[in-house]
Amino acid sequence: MSDPIPAITLPVATVPVSLGDRSYDVLVGAGLIRDAGGPVAAIAGRRPLIILSDETVAPLYLGLLTRALESAGCRMMDPIIVPAGEATKSFHHLEAVMEILLSRGIERGAILVALGGGVIGDLGGFAAAIALRGIDFIQIPTTLLSQVDSSVGGKTGINSRQGKNLIGAFHQPRLVLADISALDSLPRREVLAGYAEVVKYGLIDRPDFFTWLEENGTALVAGDAALRVAAVKESVAAKAAIVAQDEREGGVRALLNLGHTFGHALEAEVGYGGELLHGEAVGVGMVMAFDLSVRLGLCPPDDLARMRRHLAAVGLPTGVAHLSRGRWTVDALMAHMAKDKKVKDGGITFILARGIGQAFTARGIDAEPVRAVVAAALE
Ligand code: NAD
Ligand code: MG
Repeated sequence: MSDPIPAITLPVATVPVSLGDRSYDVLVGAGLIRDAGGPVAAIAGRRPLIILSDETVAPLYLGLLTRALESAGCRMMDPIIVPAGEATKSFHHLEAVMEILLSRGIERGAILVALGGGVIGDLGGFAAAIALRGIDFIQIPTTLLSQVDSSVGGKTGINSRQGKNLIGAFHQPRLVLADISALDSLPRREVLAGYAEVVKYGLIDRPDFFTWLEENGTALVAGDAALRVAAVKESVAAKAAIVAQDEREGGVRALLNLGHTFGHALEAEVGYGGELLHGEAVGVGMVMAFDLSVRLGLCPPDDLARMRRHLAAVGLPTGVAHLSRGRWTVDALMAHMAKDKKVKDGGITFILARGIGQAFTARGIDAEPVRAVVAAALE
């Protein structure tokens, strides 16, 4: 009898996030939830761990993670499971999580483990930031968006009736485990939404990465694990490099908002009901930012055509005519943009580009070209 064929395990990449005494590693690889015991135990030792997850992710990965941590000798408290979806980033669910944590008598040494997408990472990170004035937390992001974006950089928080992410804290995790295998259960549309944020890093300051994505994006979106590891690793490195320079968004970190000023306006107009995912809005918003850059004479039209072509090739929307169907107005979208939290002293900060991989921050942009860009996206 022959030996069983060993599972092919891709090498695990380690990306350091360098923030002085708040530094941590992001591990990227396939099978990292199954193999979480070693890296988590190295941080936790005998400190108690509490996993926070949602009702979609828990049935898929909570058992696997719990077994891995128990086998490594970790002390596990009962998990906390909250409903899936953006509405969970609320005071109501924050209060519920906090009361459970405190009713269990957690001490400062307890560690919260956020197992899920950006909603769980943001809510769990914020709960960890304020429980007993701050306990440690570990991120185990399970969506592409959370692996390449929300789990890295320490922004945590919940939504207010006044807008998204308006209540929160900077609180860096102690460790991030990005398990590419978890993406196998993610709906294709969610994969694509996360992919828009991957493209964003190429457009900001990594033109070679953008070229690599043009060659590999379709296979990556379709499920190629090695390509996904490479793309998540590069994206995390790109975000880490920016966050290391500017942890609290006083300057260069604003570049990560490429596509977001326009994107948030689209999201606000359509409502947060799933018709337009955040990543989809960012994809359209990046097209609009490049369109604006071209109209201002700052960016070659070929670069706009090229980035638009790539987004369309993988299956992302590049405009919103299919949602607007003639109902949205330029005025309404301009009003949403004026309300965005990135507005300072009444002026909107735009992230523009001199080309692919050459994003920069600009203020004092005339309304007329902005209106023309919005009108074009609605057509
Ligand atoms: P999400 O957490 O809502 O996940 C999307 C959906 O996929 C949910 O229904 C979830 O239950 C499900 N899911 C998660 N993992 C899965 C898996 N492996 N298989 C099957 N289903 C799975 O959303 P998201 O897109 O991960 O994150 C969006 C949130 O992240 C927003 O609230 C946004 O504000 C936030 N965010 C934060 C930052 C930051 O820096 N903190 C950055 C970007 C986005
Ligand atoms: Mg985003």
